[in-house]
Amino acid sequence: MSDSIMYYSTNKKAPRVAFDEALINGQAPDGGLYMPERIPKLSTETIRSFKDMEFFEIAYHIGKSFLGELIDDDSLKTITRDAYNFTVPIENVYERKYILRLDRGPTASFKDFAARMMARLMQYFITKTERKLLILVATSGDTGSAIANAFYGLDNIEVAVLFPENEVSERQRKQMTTLQKNITILALDGKFDDCQKLVKQAFSDPELDYLDLSSANSINFGRILPQTIYYFYSYAKLAKANEKVIISIPSGNFGNMMGAIIASRMGLPVERFIIATNENDEFPKFLESGDYHKIEPSRNCLSSAMNVGHPSNLARLVDLFDGHLDTSGELNKIPDMEKLQRLIYSISIDDTETRQTIIEAYKQCEIVLEPHGSVGWAGLRNYLKDNGNDSEKLYISVETAHPAKFPEQIIELLGIDPELPPALQGLEEKPEFFDKMGITYEQFKEYLINNY
Ligand SMILES: *Cc1c(COP(=O)(O)O)cnc(C)c1O
Repeated sequence: MSDSIMYYSTNKKAPRVAFDEALINGQAPDGGLYMPERIPKLSTETIRSFKDMEFFEIAYHIGKSFLGELIDDDSLKTITRDAYNFTVPIENVYERKYILRLDRGPTASFKDFAARMMARLMQYFITKTERKLLILVATSGDTGSAIANAFYGLDNIEVAVLFPENEVSERQRKQMTTLQKNITILALDGKFDDCQKLVKQAFSDPELDYLDLSSANSINFGRILPQTIYYFYSYAKLAKANEKVIISIPSGNFGNMMGAIIASRMGLPVERFIIATNENDEFPKFLESGDYHKIEPSRNCLSSAMNVGHPSNLARLVDLFDGHLDTSGELNKIPDMEKLQRLIYSISIDDTETRQTIIEAYKQCEIVLEPHGSVGWAGLRNYLKDNGNDSEKLYISVETAHPAKFPEQIIELLGIDPELPPALQGLEEKPEFFDKMGITYEQFKEYLINNY
């Protein structure tokens, strides 16, 4: 196993670890984020061969290139087949411009792609060592349901999700509370920050060490790896021989972007990435100036899952381009800005343009977008304005959630009520199970001790 890929911390003060340890640890002990020392390369022939494969088969090949001997082929095949049991539609908008719909998983959010593969890999590795895990998640809505659904029914892993009772929509709540089995849901009489505080405190409480607590948040490299797959999938299905693609990604915490950047290092032929943010514009400003200033508190926009003023995954991007960004937001070493600017075009889209883009995409092209995907599509439209349109070139814009998750906005803007994807149908009738709790740590700790 001499060629097995090791993972280092972006803070460079923690020991290197293998994939399984990076996966179970989540964050490195020095507070940095794990990155692979070597990024596997896929040959042009391999990438071309993806054209005739199902999504899960491509996932298997990419998983294998990272994991090598750490996992046997049959297990990885089972994991990818089980994780990707839903469709991944690609819609043509006009010319060779496409929308990649990552909204058909069990929670109708692109987070399903990363969470489902990560959950199954975690289960594989802990079962091998006869461990059990208790995963704690604080959520303001979407992450909690994606994680809860991803781990639902898996052996040896329990999940406890904390959410602010009055801050999530009814549908978001039901996506979590109707599951049961190994999923426990706690409704807190507080805010998202209170939930996060309790989870952090539990992680650093030595009296809870025996519970084998783990996290599943977006800083886990196990969530980045699966986010490379759909870029290869869409490219292979659409590209002509030796062609380069331009991809637009609506971004918040930049996990999706990191998947794309790593895909390009693996050999995906990319001309340019378009990184579109909402009014949290710390990244486009940084790309232009080389000065980084986080936005605190983050700005509230329509594309609420992208309301992030200090994206954790930026530390990974800066590291890949030879700089150093501390977890706190301190830019200790400026990365190669010229190289970054050559690869990435970035733009901030405000709520007015987000709404306008939803209306125009529907009226002009009969495409139904929701606010996150609209930011991505608006990013592409701005790119075409600034760089010129080439009707021969391949452009892909990513849609990260299903429009039916935002019925009020879609009805208001388009006058239609988007049909629920099968995954979200029938939720209304299902019984809900959750426990209510205050926001003191003593209460939470007692709950964990009594229930696990
Ligand atoms: C989380 C999320 C995003 C942002 O993705 P990042 O990887 O954090 O940049 C975009 N759209 C939707 C619908 C999301 O749930």
